[in-house]
Amino acid sequence: MAWQPTDDLAQAVALEVLLHGPLSRSDLARRLSLAPATLTRISTDLIRSGLLVESPHLAERRTGRPSIPLDVMPEAHHFVGVKLAGDRIMAVLTNLRADVLDHREALLESHAPEYVATRIADLATQIGGGLRIAAVGIGLGGVVDGRGSVSSAPFLDWHEVPLASLVRARVSCPVFAANDLAAFTEAQHWFGLGSGHDNFAVITLGVGVGFGSIANGRLLAGPDAGVGLVGHWPLDPFGPRCRRGHRGCADAMLTIPAIEKDLSAALGHPVRWDEALGLVHSDDPAARQIFTASGRALGRLIAAVANLTAPELVIIGGEGVALAASTEEAILDGVLENRDPRADPVRIELASGENTSWCQGAAVVAIQGYVHGRLDADT
Ligand SMILES: [Zn+2]
Repeated sequence: MAWQPTDDLAQAVALEVLLHGPLSRSDLARRLSLAPATLTRISTDLIRSGLLVESPHLAERRTGRPSIPLDVMPEAHHFVGVKLAGDRIMAVLTNLRADVLDHREALLESHAPEYVATRIADLATQIGGGLRIAAVGIGLGGVVDGRGSVSSAPFLDWHEVPLASLVRARVSCPVFAANDLAAFTEAQHWFGLGSGHDNFAVITLGVGVGFGSIANGRLLAGPDAGVGLVGHWPLDPFGPRCRRGHRGCADAMLTIPAIEKDLSAALGHPVRWDEALGLVHSDDPAARQIFTASGRALGRLIAAVANLTAPELVIIGGEGVALAASTEEAILDGVLENRDPRADPVRIELASGENTSWCQGAAVVAIQGYVHGRLDADT
């Protein structure tokens, strides 16, 4: 069935159950400050429309009367999330709660927008099998406007490419596109480590360094979101230089290519990321020294984010998240160096570094577009 709550209150109830369910009627009434009678009326309507269901197997017995929680049926809706990289596209199939059911990828032989759109549509159709797809979401590193048009994406040499519209013309469901970091941050907010938090920050590590923020329950996003403004934040006055010549900036200290380059130079032969992780885990002195400096720099960035934006937690994600997992002590040193001892300790959580987490973010953009009834690119 379609997601069509009849009014704003019904939408609020349905959304609360989607994000935090299963929930009992009394929990729901309390969370949304609704009178029990109002909640009962709305939930009855939502159950009748098929959007919510009672989950009797989760019934709790309180004061002798069973309370049957309400839930959505996640498997009743399917979404495709696509991550667009320079040389390939990766896609996941998810349910309404962004649980990954399948994943696939396809290589790109060109960056011509029409060609890329066709490849995305083909992959979405393939991964969907015979299922009805409710919406497709696409994430990429670049500046993407509210209508899914890519204002700029230097890694594809794209300017003003109406990506969502191009894909929409090739599939039979709504299509949404967004900056990949914004998508990842939204996914953490709705279904990830940031679920239930109104203020948190995300730092992603990989080929670049990304920063995302949820403030007062909303994604903080200006017209420059997607430019990568935190990528060259200064972190270590004695660190190596980045491609732009900054000494010890985030790009030079925290990215996978920078760490690979430093370790390769130290050991006198090319070292890839997996090997670098193996070396640091086996306490190779050169690897340990480079990782410790990077971990301390990451701690300084976390402290800066915490000092400036007062988040309830800082989530570290991206394919380079293993840097954070391997340098816990150095990170804490970096945080303590840069934070007033009277301030609360910073809560740091590590997200999964799996590549599919970017696709999952794109799927959440599709889910949000669908649930909020946003107009897609073609309407
Ligand atoms: Zn730099």
